Amino acid sequence: MVSTDVLVVGAGPAGLTTGIYASRFGHRVIILEKSFAGGQLAMTSEVENYPGFAEPVSGLLLAETMQLQAVRFGCQMVNAEATAVTAGQHGFAVTTPVDRIAAQVLVICTGAKPRKLNVPGEAELIGRGVSYCAVCDGPLFKGREVAVVGGGDSALDEALYLSNICARVHMIHRRDEFRGCKTAEARLRQRENVVFHLSTVIESVNGTDRIESLQLRDLKDDSRRRLAVNGLFIYVGWLPNTGWCSGFVRLDGDGAVIADERLRTSVTGVFAAGDVRNTPLRQVATAVGDGALAAMMAHDFLSGRR
Ligand code: NAP
Repeated sequence: MVSTDVLVVGAGPAGLTTGIYASRFGHRVIILEKSFAGGQLAMTSEVENYPGFAEPVSGLLLAETMQLQAVRFGCQMVNAEATAVTAGQHGFAVTTPVDRIAAQVLVICTGAKPRKLNVPGEAELIGRGVSYCAVCDGPLFKGREVAVVGGGDSALDEALYLSNICARVHMIHRRDEFRGCKTAEARLRQRENVVFHLSTVIESVNGTDRIESLQLRDLKDDSRRRLAVNGLFIYVGWLPNTGWCSGFVRLDGDGAVIADERLRTSVTGVFAAGDVRNTPLRQVATAVGDGALAAMMAHDFLSGRR
């Protein structure tokens, strides 16, 4: 069993910032990450509302830079998935398929995963035209015709990104107004290769080896039609990644970790930061702010223990 002072689970902006601050407080920090640093940020084409960048910055570049910074201050990155957590006399132990990691303080920063549309054909065609990541898969659809479903910031931003690559982007949203930022919507509406299908839902994703078409239903007149596309990018929200810690800390009805204004969870010594917690705003800037506060709280907790 490996041991540390602060164990951060998740290497998105919240986790990396927790690591940067906690290691600068002089604590031993392990950041556990199952895949790659950055989380959703690394899968975001361009970020233009994170302060400090006059021009849009690549999400991947921002994530990689945060990781370099965390490592420079002494954080140890461990690549494994947290599968369970228990409390002991001297802190907590997180289980991974490789090892168990013991820590005096635990900071949950596991972010969120894409919500599925849950329509016939979606699951079968993942990786064969169905994608949840435009920045990862968009280049595969260069010069082709794709659809984006959703009406929030993710759908708008990633449709903009795809409109630079693809021949045509069909924007499908179940209401006739978007919930995302007006600037992005206005920019999208100026693109000649973007077609809007509002008050419209996808009933099925069709194709054998690859996507061939979408079955659409117009919610205003209940009419149905087929739309031929080569790809479908789904941006209908996110679900907190809390399966590994459910039953250990209290979650809300959406599965987000309940944390107070000092990011304390229902378990003393366990904090939550970023998109994984019950927060009204999920941005890189808020995740980073959470990370700084979580590290401060972890420091206070450890200082009180000594
Ligand atoms: P979101 O804001 O929760 O939007 C999800 C969208 O999907 C909504 O428009 C919703 O429709 C639609 N939707 C949900 N379930 C659906 C279903 N079953 N079928 C069809 N449509 C469905 O998610 P998000 O866009 O991923 O954003 C998440 C958070 O990250 C937000 O706080 C957002 O501001 C933030 N974010 C910010 C930026 C940025 O600042 N540039 C970029 C990305 C994300 P309704 O509108 O009808 O509910």
